[in-house]
Amino acid sequence: MNQILDPYYHKNISCPMCETNYKTRKIRARFSNPYQIDSDFCPHYKKETNNPLFYMINVCPQCGYSFNDQFSDTFPEHAKSLIWEKICRSWQQLNLTEERSFKQAVDSYKLAIYCAEYKEEKPEVLAGLCLRLAWLYRGAGEEEQEKRFLQLSLKKYDEAYLKNSSFQGMTEMTVLYMIGELNRRLGNSKEAITNFSRVINHKKKHEDKKMVKMARDQWMVMREKKQTEEEVPEES
Ligand SMILES: [Zn+2]
Repeated sequence: MNQILDPYYHKNISCPMCETNYKTRKIRARFSNPYQIDSDFCPHYKKETNNPLFYMINVCPQCGYSFNDQFSDTFPEHAKSLIWEKICRSWQQLNLTEERSFKQAVDSYKLAIYCAEYKEEKPEVLAGLCLRLAWLYRGAGEEEQEKRFLQLSLKKYDEAYLKNSSFQGMTEMTVLYMIGELNRRLGNSKEAITNFSRVINHKKKHEDKKMVKMARDQWMVMREKKQTEEEVPEES
């Protein structure tokens, strides 16, 4: 096949743990147009093999250290020895650098979540990893696992907001919207409304009308759904 027509390419990675150089598969952007994006930004792709979410995590074939572009370059003291002890020491030299099955994609995220925890990455980095893993489970129809990781993601977004963290390129309004939306998906109406309302009344609401509209829309979805079940207050 002509290289330009290949949906994937290989990216050169240098492992920050063991310094091994390796190439790992990524999906070209023009082959990864989602046909649908959910209200929590989860993209859906027609072909599983062209799903860029499967290939976001770099997994070192030599030592197992796993990370994505959001990880910081530095390791806190003792983090390397902890990761060595917990992951690298018993690593079976698994190769996740080529085509990944669903299970292998899930494993890559779980490894990255462990590495991020040991490395004490910012809460928004962990929130993003857990959210994407929840999306993988949604794509596979595994609702229980999806909810489990949405819950973990929500916990980390809450932490990021309370710490007034840098949000890794997200705006405060987007973080608040995500906290509202994840609460809505997990059935926590009160928390969802509190946070949608924070978006709608945010001091920067005129700068991000799209976010305000999304918060309003999701509030409406809740009201329509709950109309017969219980009272959901009107937007004030
Ligand atoms: Zn390595």
